[in-house]
Amino acid sequence: MNAPLIIVGAGHAGGRAALTLREEGYSGRLILIGDEPHLPYERPPLSKGLLQGTADLAGYSLCDRERLAALNIEHIAANPVTQLQPEQHRLQLADGQWLPYAGLLLATGGRARRLPQSPANVLYLRTHDEALALRDALKPGTRVVVVGGGFIGLEVAATARGLGCEVTVLEAGPRLVGRVLPPVISEALLNLHREHGVDVRLNVALESIQADGVLLVDGQRLPCDRVVVGIGMQPNIELATAAGLDVGQGIRVDGFLRTSAANIYAAGDVCEFRQDGLYQRQETWRNAEAQGRHAALNLLGRELPFDALPGFWSDQYDWGLLTVGVMTPAVVSRTLPGGGLLLFYLDADQRLQGACGWAPGNGAAKDIKLCERLITARVVLNAANLADPELSLKHLLRG
Ligand code: FAD
Ligand code: NAP
Repeated sequence: MNAPLIIVGAGHAGGRAALTLREEGYSGRLILIGDEPHLPYERPPLSKGLLQGTADLAGYSLCDRERLAALNIEHIAANPVTQLQPEQHRLQLADGQWLPYAGLLLATGGRARRLPQSPANVLYLRTHDEALALRDALKPGTRVVVVGGGFIGLEVAATARGLGCEVTVLEAGPRLVGRVLPPVISEALLNLHREHGVDVRLNVALESIQADGVLLVDGQRLPCDRVVVGIGMQPNIELATAAGLDVGQGIRVDGFLRTSAANIYAAGDVCEFRQDGLYQRQETWRNAEAQGRHAALNLLGRELPFDALPGFWSDQYDWGLLTVGVMTPAVVSRTLPGGGLLLFYLDADQRLQGACGWAPGNGAAKDIKLCERLITARVVLNAANLADPELSLKHLLRG
């Protein structure tokens, strides 16, 4: 009997890969191995709908148990892969069993980066179970200090305010989501959170966390009931590193998502791929979806180069942030109704490379979709036209 295809990591990228393999006609043995007890699920609702009580695990799972059974996908849950032997084409699970593979996908994602000390009042957010613990903690009137003004910190802050908590956000850097977003959007986020009553503090250094509060390096003490820490993600690279695969800040792959070991691919948050000559990881829903699907096709021998456009979104209060493509320095902006903003990033030939929309509700969604089409069509644009809110992007697309 032929060895199976195995996917390690039953998260978004891994789950999408398994479903794609079946949709694309693979009929051999297929095993999806996870360390969490749940079916594969999408994580964006963990900081939004789940905490608000408007979403549940069944709603954001990639599929239900019946569908996995119908597709004959063997899901091994709560049993992590502990060892990988690429030369023998086999791996070992925590329960001791060895499994051979014909092809392997590593989609091990990442975990929340931890502070050196985490007393019992400290909460992290990466998994469904961590989100449930956070939901239980966010009662009206709870005093919450959020460490980290990145996406986790800000989305949790917005949700916690909606639930009636008192919220302080501590950001180490000079602006919010400073490594990813342009200054004008960091500023808009800062104003929005302050308007909603969040005490946002920038350039803050944390000294220690105590059972009843947080101590800052400048000596200030912030009393609180709970501390939510969102200081970044640590990719789960240990399995690949120990197996001798080429690993940088993630598991390194070539343009086809192949790792340095034969018949092993990587996808999702853990995957480090080259874009514009530089290795990078993308920690986004869109990337997990695209790479999970893409790796599955290449496991089936399609040999397709991976060149999907990046992008992400974030919802905070009643505002939405959306990006597509690459945010290079050359920027043109246009105002959107309701005080929103659309930023266009152009290359030296005046072609669109990326765009960022910030608007009430999903007010930027249509424009960002059109920007995606402008990027793919490689239309040469005029900065004055882009800046003019009266000129529809559809019109520019038609040339
Ligand atoms: P994961 O979904 O983390 O899946 C990896 C799985 O592999 C995990 O279950 C992990 O436990 C498991 N695993 C690890 N090691 C092993 C092992 N040795 N054996 C077996 N299993 C293993 N992105 C957006 O674009 N927009 C958003 O609004 C947004 N919101 C988010 C909100 C939250 C709270 C979080 C945490 C993320 C959010 N993201 C968002 C990011 C997006 O969810 C991630 O980029 C995506 O989940 C990555 O998918 P993945 O499959 O690579 O990793
Ligand atoms: P993140 O986006 O990397 O942000 C972490 C923030 O914390 C950064 O601004 C960082 O500042 C700051 N920081 C680091 N150490 C700190 C400290 N000791 N004290 C105070 N601030 C500190 O990571 P995250 O918000 O934790 O999110 C984790 C993962 O979930 C990421 O992969 C993220 O993409 C994903 N996620 C995505 C979304 C979305 O796309 N909408 C939503 C939620 C989660 P410096 O940059 O200056 O270090």
